[in-house]
Formats: sequence, structure tokens, C-alpha cells
Amino acid sequence: MLETEIVVKVNEGLHARPATQFAKLAKEFSCSLQIFRGTTSADAKSAVKLMLLGIKQDDQILLRADGSDESVAVNRLLAFLSEPSAGVQPAQAAQAAQAAQPAQTEAVSASVNGSHTMATDAATPEAALYVRGVPASEGLACGEAFVYLPEALRATRQFIEPHEVATELDRFSAAFTESIAALDQQFKTMGCHDDIVEALADVAQSDEFSGAVKQRIASGWDAAAATLQVGEELAASFLAMEDEYLRSRADDIHGITRQVALRLLGMEDVSLASLSRPCVVLAAELSALDFARARVANIVGLVCTKGSATSHLAIMARSHGIPAVLGLPVDEALLRGATRVALDGAQGQVWFDPSPEVEAGFATRIAQEKSRHAALSVYRDVEPLTRDGRHVEIAANLGSLGEIDAALEAGAMGVGLFRTELLFMDRRTMPDEDEQAAIYTKLAQAFHPRPVVIRTLDVGGDKPVPGIVFPEEDNPFLGWRGVRMCLDRPDVFMPQLRALLRAATVGNVQVMIPMIDDVDEVRRVKALIATCGEALTEEGVAWAQPKLGIMVETPAAALTADLLAQEVDFFSIGTNDLTQYVMAVDRMNPDLASLYRTDHPAVLRAIGMVCKAANNAGIPVAVCGEAAARPEMIPLFIDLGVTELSMSPSSVLRAKKIVCEL
Ligand code: PEP
Ligand code: MG
Repeated sequence: MLETEIVVKVNEGLHARPATQFAKLAKEFSCSLQIFRGTTSADAKSAVKLMLLGIKQDDQILLRADGSDESVAVNRLLAFLSEPSAGVQPAQAAQAAQAAQPAQTEAVSASVNGSHTMATDAATPEAALYVRGVPASEGLACGEAFVYLPEALRATRQFIEPHEVATELDRFSAAFTESIAALDQQFKTMGCHDDIVEALADVAQSDEFSGAVKQRIASGWDAAAATLQVGEELAASFLAMEDEYLRSRADDIHGITRQVALRLLGMEDVSLASLSRPCVVLAAELSALDFARARVANIVGLVCTKGSATSHLAIMARSHGIPAVLGLPVDEALLRGATRVALDGAQGQVWFDPSPEVEAGFATRIAQEKSRHAALSVYRDVEPLTRDGRHVEIAANLGSLGEIDAALEAGAMGVGLFRTELLFMDRRTMPDEDEQAAIYTKLAQAFHPRPVVIRTLDVGGDKPVPGIVFPEEDNPFLGWRGVRMCLDRPDVFMPQLRALLRAATVGNVQVMIPMIDDVDEVRRVKALIATCGEALTEEGVAWAQPKLGIMVETPAAALTADLLAQEVDFFSIGTNDLTQYVMAVDRMNPDLASLYRTDHPAVLRAIGMVCKAANNAGIPVAVCGEAAARPEMIPLFIDLGVTELSMSPSSVLRAKKIVCEL
């Protein structure tokens, strides 16, 4: 190990561009390289971490190298740090070319490994910033930026005189009534449930909120400051509660407080509903509700600082066919300052304020992509067969009835995964049996006679649902979720099963159970289905027996697939979770993206075992995780014996083409 101290001579220190160059140089060596500045340190191969160290010109730092090439590495890096113009001169023409032609660059191949680096395009005075994040939804986009980062509201308290109290109280009441009416209107337009508005109205009308604001106004506060203060205090008391669901109500309080305060301050909030022309949306993250409110047709691309390739945000982007890069390692300030953005969702590349060369490159590639997509439409009604005559079903993954049209237009051969949890989230009460039966029936009718695979509720502590109190768990992904929770909560599970049995009268409904670990769980589900069927018969309600399948997404299920195959009508491999559990890599963690590999031999072996068991038992086996749509994975899955692939509607046509060409 070598350690050397040096005074940094680089002009203005290791800011963005020199840090990038320095990290790039450091990566040429195999030894580990660490930089220490005072009490903090960073990996010298990470530009972002270096930037966070904030190394200034004339700072004294320590460079530590450990590995076979340590002495040459230290020499080269010390030379860099002693050169005032390092990282700025020369202008890195090669890097500019890289930005202009992303498909042929070193950065592109590196991004396949999911690493995050930062580079600058020095070809233009505007110096576009090029950053890599997690490839989350493929496609290209280039256009005006729409920054969706609602700012925190602040109001300095104004003292009001006793004679002004009545006016302030009136202002508060007016703002309050208008806010509730506006929310009501908004939710109606979105076709959402009144219970959200009702819950917000309840909170707002309570003594704790509206009563407390009025009291504060009466004691001499202006309406805006009083509203913000009371809202903050009330939200804090919800956040202190033990119950997860109640804790998450703090969001409601923040929501209503914000609406009222905006009106009192005469401000307008940033809203995705106001997207009046095609834009690339830049955000920290978007919720399902944000998507529901947005004019989705005007979101041509999405860049978020949070999220990973298999997060629900990514799944939503893919199901809407929006190119997206998530988990971008940048500050919100950078997003706020951007005016135009270009992104390649397949490679996880983003250019902020791209140079004319980059824009021109994108225009050409987008036009090519459009004509490629148009050419794919000939596959819409094709029943894909490989050249050696194997039939492969290509179905769609859906989360709501709103996605049916896109799936039908893409020629999806049924639904391979309908995620019912989205029906349970973003609302205040659980959908009852009748509501669920109506939704499942509509879905089944839309695709009849093609099969529609509906997955029973798959939630855990990470995704709170009204009416279910999840325990605090150290590892919610290894915890009380999916079928485990459902079996413990027949009051939640039975209405869903009854609704599914009722919808099965359409003739094409298949029921799929998530997170199965062992045969006993399947048998218990079958017993519950039998009980539901008997009860429906007694009540004189029409029902039919659906096919029953399981998701194979735990190593336990994969290893006992031969036993499970005796119990069910089909398998569907959930590669999102199977990869996470086989590799012991959190699927939500963008920093571990390079370790999260569905093409790892361990995962492929598990998939092979499942296919073999299914093929031996004569039952179909699908893949419905995100890997099902990956062009390089499709031949592998088919070789392993997979008979169906289910994916976002936007990938269906391409998958059909790939199968036909195999
Ligand atoms: C999976 O785990 O692959 C899957 C499809 O389920 P989800 O992504 O909803 O966990
Ligand atoms: Mg899963």
C-alpha cells in the first residue's frame, strides 16, 4: 500500500469536470484508490463521490493506493493533481464525440454494468452535462425539460391587528373551501375514488387542523403562516405514530396544508396536469397518483433521482412506453437548472442541456426508432413461432384497466400478469368484493377468449395498503408479504378470491399466487378457494373454477418446482424477485444495479430447474418479470423451456419479432 500527501494545484479544485477526468484516469488502474480530505474520504474512481468531497485548489489531501499497479497509479494521479489546467485542457474532443454518438461509446458499454459515472461534453461553451443512471425504460427522448420538484412553502409570520382577524379568518375559510372543491374536481377528472377527497376533507375540517388554524389566527397570526405551522405540527404528530398506515397520513396533511397555503400566498403549484406540450419530466420520483394526474401523452421522457429498474416507477414508465432513466446520482439543483434534456432509456444515459451535435444525433436516432416501430406493427396479429416450430405466447403485464387499449393495440396475446395491488393502493379503503369482481370481469371481457392471469394481492410493509397494519420489519422484502399476509388475513383474501371466482364465469380468468415458498401454502389457498366456491353456490351467486398458478420468485419455490408442479396448472417466473432473492441483491437499490443480474448463471440455473419441472409435469411456464422483454434474454428463456413471455405492452411487438426470427 502506498500513501502520499499532496497539495492540489488544479484550478478551482476538483469540481465537476476535473473530478470526472480524475476518476476516469483512476479507473485505468486495478489498484484501489482512496482520497482523504480532512476526516472524510472517497473512492477516487467515483466522480460524484469526489465532487462531494469538495476538494479546492491548494487543499492538502492524501492519496492511498493499494494493489499491484499502485506506484504507477500514484505517479499518474499526482501528476494530474499538480497540474493547474488538469481536466480542463485539452478539451476532450473524444468525449464530445462520445456525447454526440452515444451508441458507440465506451460509456454505453460501461452502462450495461449499471455503474454511474459523470462526464462533461466539452465540445460546446454550454458544456452539456452527461450523467449515467439506471436504465429503466428503453427508448430515446430529447426535448424541453419540465421540472417537477414541488418546492417547500415558507411563510414568515406576519403579526395581525385584532381588527384584521375577521378578514384573515375569511381568507382562510375561502382558501379552504376552494381547495377541497379543487381536489374534488381533480379526483373526479381522474376517475378516482371519492374516499380520497373525503379523507382529506375530514382531516381539513377537523378541530386539529381547521380549528387550530382559526385559533392561531385569532391569537394574531396571519392565515398563511398559521396554516403552514399547524399543518407541520399535525403532520409531525402523525409521523410519530406506530401504525404505518396512520404514519403515512402525514402525507394527506401535508397535501391539504399545501393546497390551502398556496391559495393564501397567491401561488400556483407545479403540476403534471399542466403539461401542455411534450416535455421530458425531471423529478425526484413520481407516485402512481402523479402518473394518474399527469397528461401522460406529453411525457416524452422521464428522469428521476430515485427508483431502480424494477421499482414500480420503472414498471409504470414502461407500461406507458415512456423512456426513463432512474436513480440518477445528481442533486435536485441540477434538475432545476436544466432547460433541455436528452436521454437514452436503454443505456441509462442523460444529457442536460445537450449540445446541438447531441440534439442532432438524437433527432436522427429518434426518427430511425419511429420507423423501426412502425415496421413492427406487421407483427400485431402474428402468433409467434420459432423457426423450429415452437409456439411462444407473448402477453402483457398490466396494473390497471386504463392500460387495456395499449395492450390490445400491441397485439398482446392475453394478460400474463395483472398486478392487483395497484387497485388497493392510493386510496383510503379497500376495494370490496363487488368492485373487484366488476374490474376483473371487465379485464377478462376485454381479452376474451385469450387468457387473463390475475395475481392476488402482493403487498408488504414497503407498500402500505389501507386496512392492513404491517408490522415494523427489519427486512420487509423477506417479511410478511404476498401470500403469507393473505393467508393470515382471510378478511382481505376471501373477498378477492370470491371476486375472482365470480369473474371466472367469463371463461378466461386464471388466478396466480405470489411469493409461494412451499406446497402447503398452495394447498391452503386451494382450500380457501373451495370454501369461497361453496359459499357462492349457497348464496346462489354464479361462479366458475379458474385455473390456478403460482409465481416462482423465491429460491425455495424454484428448488421444489417439481413438487409444486403437481399442485398447480401453470408457473410464472417472477424474475424481478427471483433475481433479488437468488443473488441476495436488493432490487430497489440503484447502487447495486451491477450485481442485480438475471443473466447470472445462478439465476439461469434456477429458471432452468423450474422449466424442467414444468415441462415434465406438462404445465405451461411463463416469465413475467421485466427480463421477459429483454431482447438478449428472450432466446435464453426459450431455450430453457419457457412457453410464454409477459411484458409491458410497449415491448410486445418487438418480442414477437424476436421469437419469429429465432
Ligand atoms: C417479479 O417479481 O418478477 C414480478 C413480476 O412481480 P413484481 O415485480 O410485482 O414483484
Ligand atoms: Mg414479485
